Amino acid sequence: MNQELPVRHRRSWAEPYKIKMVELLKNTTQEERLRAIEMAGYNTFLLRSEDVYIDLLTDSGTSAMSDVQWSGMMLGDEAYSGSANFYHLEENVRKYYGYPHVIPTHQGRGAEHLISKILIKTGDVVPGNMYFTTTRLHQELAGGTFEDVIVEEAHDPMSQAPFKGNVDIQKLENLIARVGASKIPYITIGATVNMAGGQPISMANMREVRNVAQRNGIRIILDATRAIENAFFIQQREEGYANKPVADILFEMCSLSDGATMSGKKDLLVNIGGFLAMRDEWIYNEALSLVVVYEGMHTYGGLAGRDMEAMARGIIEAVQDNHIRARVGQVEYLGHKLQEWGIPIVEPIGGHAVYLDAKRFLPHLKQNEYPAQMLAAQLYIEGGIRSMERGIVSAGRDQLTGEERHPRLELVRLTIPRRVYTQAHLDVTAEVIASLYDRRSEIPGLEMTYEPRYLRFFQARFKPKAN
Ligand SMILES: *Cc1c(COP(=O)(O)O)cnc(C)c1O
Repeated sequence: MNQELPVRHRRSWAEPYKIKMVELLKNTTQEERLRAIEMAGYNTFLLRSEDVYIDLLTDSGTSAMSDVQWSGMMLGDEAYSGSANFYHLEENVRKYYGYPHVIPTHQGRGAEHLISKILIKTGDVVPGNMYFTTTRLHQELAGGTFEDVIVEEAHDPMSQAPFKGNVDIQKLENLIARVGASKIPYITIGATVNMAGGQPISMANMREVRNVAQRNGIRIILDATRAIENAFFIQQREEGYANKPVADILFEMCSLSDGATMSGKKDLLVNIGGFLAMRDEWIYNEALSLVVVYEGMHTYGGLAGRDMEAMARGIIEAVQDNHIRARVGQVEYLGHKLQEWGIPIVEPIGGHAVYLDAKRFLPHLKQNEYPAQMLAAQLYIEGGIRSMERGIVSAGRDQLTGEERHPRLELVRLTIPRRVYTQAHLDVTAEVIASLYDRRSEIPGLEMTYEPRYLRFFQARFKPKAN
């Protein structure tokens, strides 16, 4: 609607905050950057942060905290057990997410580790709406196998479907029929779906999954890492939700699940922290015994009291409609700019990141020449912008055959930290991408020179192929 008004009559969204403290950025020359990326083995994860100009590697733990959160840090109750900050966190998780039991963990994967160990037996199958790297690995290490049951559109970067994070109910039913419900300890629902480009799942679809799960006696564990962003998309796109506050939508989403794993480093505006939450008493009791082995006492779970306080306060800020509108609005601003310039990105634009489609950006490269890995390296060389690969390198190898998995999506993720960069930073980012796009045909592929055993994308090393 805004689009039809003359420009001076529009009301743009603006950030619902002002800036009180800044961090100075360093500029580097192209020569310095070339040296740095060679030292890093063409892996942007291995760059030193001080050599980066605009850091869009991840939105994980990179957000700016508010003065309210920082003042909460000073109120850290660092008692070994029974910290007041734990009870504040528990109260806010109960109030906004609705789960009665909460166990803090050092970050999201800590929660994934616990729930996988508690619920998965050797030979089990865990369906989900597309894999996530750490989630799947913990399921595999616990003896399970992951099965992707996301809708087909999710694999198509050009499909305009509004809810590309939805579960394909037929695929889910077929899987249950094939392996039997007793082999399926739970279904993982990601909201939003990171690996599909930050795409949301609809409330209607979550309800359908709930019905299938209930009929078959299967639990649902929500990956609530970016559920607030997902709730915003439901408000914007799903019938019946336009006038509901994001906080209410979040609560309703959680009500359709039995528990959740959470990385507070995303939605919740903190630099470290996460939690596992659930309704079942017996899962809670199991988690209580495991958390002391792997994370710490159940009232701190690997976190300092001050970290729990920052997360407790972060929840309240993160569910505000004006916050989430500006957060997603900034991502869309960058995405629309790239779209206008004809640069291939995943559509619709996701909640936390804009994803470049490396297959269309570098069509002359084969997938085993690691096009997205190279594109991320080139973005750094061109303008000091750090992004990350989300394609064949991230997908890793098949557990049984040892062959490389070939995901249909070969993407470079430009992830926007919350409340950190200005619109001008995003303008520069778009300009760097555009100049790279103009010389894309000169970009060669990569070969891998070092491959770690687990989650290889973090530490793998590469060198350019001789043309
Ligand atoms: C980041 C992330 C995780 C893991 O959380 P960490 O805090 O990095 O351990 C799990 N699921 C999704 C969707 C994520 O984005």
